[in-house]
This record gives sequence, C-alpha cells and structure tokens, in this order.
Amino acid sequence: MVMENININNADFEIPSDVLDKIQQNIQDIIESFDIPDSNKMEVIKKINFMYTQTKQMSVTDPLTGLYNRRHFETSLEREYMRARRYNSALSLAVVDIDFFKKVNDVYGHSCGDYVLKEAAYHMINTFRKTDMIFRYGGEEFVIILTETSANNALIPLERLRKSIEDYSFRYHGEKLKITISIGCSSNTQFETPWEMFDDADKALYNAKNSGRNCIKPAVQ
Ligand code: GH3
Ligand code: MG
Ligand code: MG
Repeated sequence: MVMENININNADFEIPSDVLDKIQQNIQDIIESFDIPDSNKMEVIKKINFMYTQTKQMSVTDPLTGLYNRRHFETSLEREYMRARRYNSALSLAVVDIDFFKKVNDVYGHSCGDYVLKEAAYHMINTFRKTDMIFRYGGEEFVIILTETSANNALIPLERLRKSIEDYSFRYHGEKLKITISIGCSSNTQFETPWEMFDDADKALYNAKNSGRNCIKPAVQ
C-alpha cells in the first residue's frame, strides 16, 4: 500500500509539514502493526483520515458559533501580519464587541445570549469575503482579519455589518431585542509584533464604546 494515497489536506489547517509527516508515519505504523488485510487497508486509511480531519476541525472551531476560535486567530494573525509586511500588502484587523450584552443575559437568560451570538456570527459570515477570516475571540467579542484591505476599504463591509445587525429583528421566544455592535479597526502593520496591531484595534474599540457605541472607530494613524 503506497502512503501517497492518504490525502491529509493541509490547506485548511496549516499543520507544519513535519507534523503531517509524523501523522502519516503513525497511520502507516498502525496499519502495519495490526496486520490489516490488503483488502481493508484503504477503508482503514479513510476512517483514520476522517477522524483526524474532524479532530483538527474541532481544534480550530468555536462550538457555539462555528466560527474559528481564539487559538486559530493567534496563528492566523501572526501569519497574515508577516505576509502583509513581507509583500507590503494592506491588512486590516477589526475587533467587534456586542453592546450591553450582559443585559441580554441578565434580562432574557443565557440561552437568549447564545442565540444572539449565533445570529451575530451568521451576519458576519454573510458580510465578509471568503478571503477574510472571522473568529470568536471570546465571550461576545469577535475579530476579523481582512486581507489585502486598506483602512478605507475595511470600513465598507464593517459598516454593512454594523447596519445589518442594527436593522435585524432579533426575536427570542416572541420578545424583540435591540442588538448593536461596536467596532475598532487597525490597518497599521508598522508595529514590531501583530499583538501591537491587535492592541491598536482594541483601543479603537474602546474609543467606539466611549463614543456612544453602535459605531466603528478606525485606530488613530
Ligand atoms: P459593553 O457594551 O461595554 O461591551 O457591555 P457588555 O455588557 O457587552 O460587556 P461586559 O464585558 O460587561 O459583559 C459581557 C458579557 O458577556 C458577560 C457575560 O455574561 C457574557 N458572555 C460571555 N460569554 C458568553 C457566552 O458564551 N454565552 C452567553 N450567553 N453570554 C456570554
Ligand atoms: Mg466585551
Ligand atoms: Mg460587550
């Protein structure tokens, strides 16, 4: 059985190739040590491959919203920041926070809060390009990496998102909810590390909160 037949797809998960090699070696070892008949080998490889892909998918996904999780954000931001600097391309990073979200939980309950998070994620998925990446950073905070996107160009989809959430009729058990979001955005790639860019966007978010919420603030250039 040639191991080239095992098609572990690296494109979605960015697994370092040496780790992939180890995994493939492990699969080969398992198959050999269990003395699987040739006729079943392909089926076993498919099953292991499926489990592996599923596990990997879970490790980068937030279970509530289906968006990428914080861990995946950290590796993605590092990579995109390096890429933008190396090729001198535009990059924007937006931090999105639901306004007065604690009130939603306090007044309508935690499951209503979860419903709002899922709907908000759905709006984000429908707003941004396939090349942009959307993450649930934690709680009611989301981050979006907008590749090849300048500060001015980032404002267009971000405003569309802000408005679509403001206009949407959130309904939970017959109750109508008014939901808004605040957004901070940085497009500055001149920092030493991507985490300074993240802080820059977070400061802009703080500014949006202090400016009455339900608005977008670009970071001060
Ligand atoms: P602000 O407009 O300043 O952002 O106010 P806020 O109430 O949104 O912010 P605050 O940080 O005070 O509260 C965030 C709340 O998010 C607290 C917690 O109850 C809620 N929360 C965090 N994670 C989850 C979750 O997974 N599900 C639900 N339902 N609520 C969550
Ligand atoms: Mg928050
Ligand atoms: Mg909030």
